[in-house]
Amino acid sequence: MEKVTVEGTVGSVEDYISLVGPELVEEVKELARPLKGARIILLNSTAVGGGVAEMFPGFIRLLHSLGIEVTWLVMPGNRQFFAVTKKIHNGLQGADISLTEAERSIYSRQNEITGKELAQYAADLYEIHDPQPAGVYPYLSDRPALWRCHIDSSTANPEFWEFIRERIEPYDRLIFSMQEFARKDLDSRKVVIIHPAIDPFSVKNRQMDQETAKRTIARYGINPNAPLMTQISRFDPWKDPVGVIEAYRLARRRHPDLQLVLLGAMADDDPEGPTILASLRQAVGNDQSVHILADTSPNDREVNAFQTLSRVIVQKSLREGFGLTVTEALWKGQPVVAGNVGGIRAQIRNGQNGFLVDTVEECAERVEYLLDNPDQQRELGRQARETVRQKFLMIRLVRDHLKLYRQLLGKQQLQPVMMTE
Ligand code: UDP
Repeated sequence: MEKVTVEGTVGSVEDYISLVGPELVEEVKELARPLKGARIILLNSTAVGGGVAEMFPGFIRLLHSLGIEVTWLVMPGNRQFFAVTKKIHNGLQGADISLTEAERSIYSRQNEITGKELAQYAADLYEIHDPQPAGVYPYLSDRPALWRCHIDSSTANPEFWEFIRERIEPYDRLIFSMQEFARKDLDSRKVVIIHPAIDPFSVKNRQMDQETAKRTIARYGINPNAPLMTQISRFDPWKDPVGVIEAYRLARRRHPDLQLVLLGAMADDDPEGPTILASLRQAVGNDQSVHILADTSPNDREVNAFQTLSRVIVQKSLREGFGLTVTEALWKGQPVVAGNVGGIRAQIRNGQNGFLVDTVEECAERVEYLLDNPDQQRELGRQARETVRQKFLMIRLVRDHLKLYRQLLGKQQLQPVMMTE
């Protein structure tokens, strides 16, 4: 099992005063006080790529600054296992597929191995993220455990929902990003809704000046002085990269100098990436104005540069657990044009800080609107940043988790008192 070390101290609780004011900071410190020294284990399935790995460093740094010990572990797994878990991911997002007995055994076996290893780490509370390690519960020590889902399961394929439901039922709390993701057959007393958040102090999200952004982008052979339409995402059909290309081709008719960038880093736990990438490259052919950039290593500075400099950011997802790429772009003052689905709806108020779109045509229309109306775009962009400042910064996420930890650990501490009564 890999243990990921989180370095650096920027993003401590005090650093947030200048962004959110002293009240929230005080509330968080107060919530954390009785939890000082508590040992929390976070378990997920990749150290790089995707939204979960993205959130952990800022989350951990903030908790560390509050005196809470957090250990981030990554479950082991080979290609075969991650092929099964990507299938589970797709099934939970509604794909019409099925799991074989052999695939179920691969899943169970890997969770058993992981669970047994996990039991060797001292913990006061476990936080298990997403379906890949959901099956470790039977191997955990007798401490509170919560399961956190980052997937849009609102239209889950019943077979896959059943598969996951059986495994998550025993957890003490089940966290989803949106109410509609928590299906009705779960124990509603265990369900908690928490929106994800971004770390404003990270390389990806701190302010970048235009000149630095231009230089970074020019390295990719892209003209930083012509308008850019950009989507940043894993190469995954749910992110609808084909739809983005179609919308771009419509928008380009009246904006011939518009360039398209699809930037995607490969996630260790997503084996579909290379196949999708190959088919996209084929679809684009030798169209020089479309740039498909597939990074194989972390590219935070590049993501920041594209989100800062692009004329329009799109996130045309067909399903979306939350869409941190949307949050990141809103934070940079970009009114994002995004799919009217899942967690994106918690972030974008249509026409106020971005646009929600249902079709390729609508997407193209909104892109063109922003290209044609820079003043309105700036105003929407101001609202966009303010939305994130108020609702989607890491300190708010930490506050929500501290409340949960207090509930769960408090319950344990209260037991002896109740017994003496
Ligand atoms: N990301 C990145 N480089 C890329 C593509 C994506 O760092 O080339 C990051 C992106 O900035 C975001 C995360 O990966 O922080 C994706 O999270 P999101 O919630 O948008 O989608 P997920 O991949 O979890 O479905």
